Amino acid sequence: MDMQTSFLDRLFESGLLIDTGIDGLYGRSGQFEDVITAFERLIDKFGGADGAEAMRFPPGMNRALFEKSGYMKSFPQLAGTVHSFCGSELDHMSLLQCIEVGDDWTKGQEATDIVLTPAACYPLYPVIAKRGNLPAKGGLFDLQSYCFRHEPSKDPARQQLFRMREYVCMGTESHVTDFRQRWMDRGVEMMKQVGLEVVIDVANDPFFGRAGKMMVNNQRDQNLKFELLIPITSTAKPTACMSFNYHQDSFGQKWGLNLEDGSVAHTACVGFGLERIALALFHHHGLDVKEWPADVRKALWG
Ligand code: ATP
Ligand code: ZN
Ligand code: MG
Repeated sequence: MDMQTSFLDRLFESGLLIDTGIDGLYGRSGQFEDVITAFERLIDKFGGADGAEAMRFPPGMNRALFEKSGYMKSFPQLAGTVHSFCGSELDHMSLLQCIEVGDDWTKGQEATDIVLTPAACYPLYPVIAKRGNLPAKGGLFDLQSYCFRHEPSKDPARQQLFRMREYVCMGTESHVTDFRQRWMDRGVEMMKQVGLEVVIDVANDPFFGRAGKMMVNNQRDQNLKFELLIPITSTAKPTACMSFNYHQDSFGQKWGLNLEDGSVAHTACVGFGLERIALALFHHHGLDVKEWPADVRKALWG
């Protein structure tokens, strides 16, 4: 049995995560949720004075806008679509028959107008573009959403449905890169307050296929993505618990996000992987929250 399986097993045994029979799809206990709530309060404490506009979207998004985002070009392997039965009574009978005999009943399912949200910030850009030019101070938004990625794994830190808390900044190049740097510094400080050792490193997204290789190199060469890494299931390959992404003006171009003077906005987003942060805390301080160091408990619960 490898390390990953055993940490997952211990999480199941303690009840913190609840097995559903699917890798990467878990229930969470009240205790687990309480840690996430406490950590989100810490995020609020660090980011609260910035005056971000809070918005919450459900974990599904407009399929047409998802198509426009280009997600299927870059990450077709991770996407999840919502399909439904749209047939007649006759179709219904053959569907039930399929289930009865163990045939594939999903073939007749039709795509709906909804796809699962792949990252918390995806629904935001078209909404802001629709408002017209950004105000002089730019845009700052506070988001949180369950996100879906089809990447089943025994690693409890790689789930298929997980929550991402994000701040998204829109403005000039220096405005949004300053924002990103500020959150890198804050991320390190926050993790220090909850007793977690971190490193920050340049990173890349898992762009699909041969064309993706070029995008990976470009992203790394230009330092467009950084990750805050914490050892969870492996010290050799620590887990990304935050990411800091500078999109240059690519989202501004794509969605028609413009500054007050009409020029194209640059954007950046920082994301907290809430389950991963909770798992890092449980891994590092133990599965019993009552036993956590006093200063860590104080940082989280006051
Ligand atoms: P990884 O390299 O580990 O796959 P990522 O680069 O795909 O991470 P992002 O797309 O930057 O991650 O997402 C923002 C944050 O969401 C990550 O830093 C991480 O904390 C969290 N996250 C991403 N994928 C998952 C997942 N499958 N399960 C749990 N949390 C995740
Ligand atoms: Zn984002
Ligand atoms: Mg990933």
